[in-house]
Amino acid sequence: MPAALDRSYDGIIIGAGHHGMVLGSYLAKAGLDILLVDRRLKYGGGLCTEEVTEPGFYHNLHSINHFHISDTPWFQDLGLSQRVSYITPPYEFGQAHLDGTALVLGRDLDETCANIARLSQRDADTFRRWNRLAEKATAQILIPERFAEPLPQAEREALLERTEVGREFLAVARCQPLDVVQELFEDEHVRLLFLFKVSLFGTWLTDTLSKTSPMGSVIRAFDLQTGYQLCRGGSFNLARGLMETFIGAGGRFEPQVQTERILLESGRATGIVLADGRTVRARQFVASTLDIHQTFENLVGREQLPAAFLRKIDEFQYTAWSLYGLHLALHESPRFAAASFDPNIDRSLKWSIGAESMADLFEAHEDVKAGRVPSIIQFGSGPLSLLDPTQAPPGKHTTYAWHVLPLYPHGGQDKPGFNAAFAEKIIDKWAKYCPNLTRRNIIGQYVYPAERYAREMINMRGGDIFMGAFNAEQVMYNHFGYRSPISNLYISGSPGHPGGAISGGAGYITAGIIAKELGIKPWWTPWDARAALERMPQHEAAA
Ligand SMILES: Cc1cc2nc3c(=O)[nH]c(=O)nc-3n(C[C@H](O)[C@H](O)[C@H](O)COP(=O)(O)OP(=O)(O)OC[C@H]3O[C@@H](n4cnc5c(N)ncnc54)[C@H](O)[C@@H]3O)c2cc1C
Repeated sequence: MPAALDRSYDGIIIGAGHHGMVLGSYLAKAGLDILLVDRRLKYGGGLCTEEVTEPGFYHNLHSINHFHISDTPWFQDLGLSQRVSYITPPYEFGQAHLDGTALVLGRDLDETCANIARLSQRDADTFRRWNRLAEKATAQILIPERFAEPLPQAEREALLERTEVGREFLAVARCQPLDVVQELFEDEHVRLLFLFKVSLFGTWLTDTLSKTSPMGSVIRAFDLQTGYQLCRGGSFNLARGLMETFIGAGGRFEPQVQTERILLESGRATGIVLADGRTVRARQFVASTLDIHQTFENLVGREQLPAAFLRKIDEFQYTAWSLYGLHLALHESPRFAAASFDPNIDRSLKWSIGAESMADLFEAHEDVKAGRVPSIIQFGSGPLSLLDPTQAPPGKHTTYAWHVLPLYPHGGQDKPGFNAAFAEKIIDKWAKYCPNLTRRNIIGQYVYPAERYAREMINMRGGDIFMGAFNAEQVMYNHFGYRSPISNLYISGSPGHPGGAISGGAGYITAGIIAKELGIKPWWTPWDARAALERMPQHEAAA
């Protein structure tokens, strides 16, 4: 049998992150002969778990919090529950304050409203009222649209206008998320945690300053049926499950493949040309899961593309911040002083630590926007091994801090000692909230700054973890698209709806598109946004 790179395939997929593996698994199961290549030795991309501090402490260096994964169509179609297991913590978001109070948002409505009411009864009533709309909008609009090719704006809006839930959804989506949060809630701490929840992955404010929110992120934040989950044993286990599925379906994976360019013949993508001069041909398609610029500038070449498409590439925006990661191996999981106010703060999946007011948040936002390191330390975290004891040795613990930083904090120059000193600042701040976060509690620590992940994952250009900004100009009907001016060349990763992060959406959606365009009858039932919006009950009250 010829070696993997010495024969041709029906389809070639570039990039073995989760999008590439989801796409490959569907098409291999459909009977296509698929080659999946990655430039790295490792597969999984942002699904990466490593023992970087001490043996037995499994740290998730990239993605940790996976949104509603076990209910996605691809997790179910591919039977991934046979290979991978997800934990759904009952308490999702937690924020402790220096005044000794805490706010925890869980999955139970009454309990969550009672927690909010301890800070503001009015805000608790608001939450309960909006939760009713959110549950309907999430089930009828947000989830079905997440896994289907977006409809054109006019058609989508006409369908949404037909129902009360749709009209309410549109009204909120047309507002700036930050305005909505400030108008709805009166308590500063409630506003803060809610913004943490609204902003994608609780990371940053920028996205909530978009003029509108076509994806409906504000509404989603009131919903308690969906939420973040943890992959048992560490995020890499999802990659392992996907790779086993792909290989089991007859797919071929080849690591350490340096793709020099995508082969074009008569305007069609017909394979890849490797750095060593070899060519691997694809009879039916090539799909790239890389960032827009690698795919089209490096692998295709600007000279092959029409002017309008080049403009689209040039106008494409990347996320304006990066993440500095600090991973800790601990004797004890962090315990908050505010646990005496609400003990569930200690076991909430996602902590927002360090910002006490909206002013703190805005200050950090301004700092990052101006390319400065924020002067007020504020970060996201969570008690990973407390929720999943398999991520640390018995009785020991792991946790992490993600701090938002500018893409180039020192104008792109190395600043010796910065990373270690910044870790100390984070630990000092943390100890103000968690008195047991002492140096004696720390067994080992590992800093994973943006410059490192951007070097390893060259698709995360300039430290952009999503490979494209989630702003109103680039989401839903404005997404980059799955097709290209080159026939048979598909974009099957983060630049397409529903965008970056571990959603699998773009891999799943393009599997349906490619199958259809190749005339293959899919073995699964691809989701359809038009059918979902047409199904919305016409006479149902919004709340
Ligand atoms: C610090 C950090 C924290 C994060 N936290 C979360 C989180 O909690 N939740 C969440 O949902 N998301 C999170 N993300 C984002 C998430 O990891 C990514 O958005 C996601 O991995 C994108 O998936 P993908 O398949 O599109 O690309 P990737 O996972 O990036 O995979 C792309 C693959 O392509 C390969 N590749 C790149 N260039 C080439 C080339 N030229 N030729 C061949 N192969 C190539 C790469 O090696 C990689 O394997 C985080 C990311 C980082 C860095």
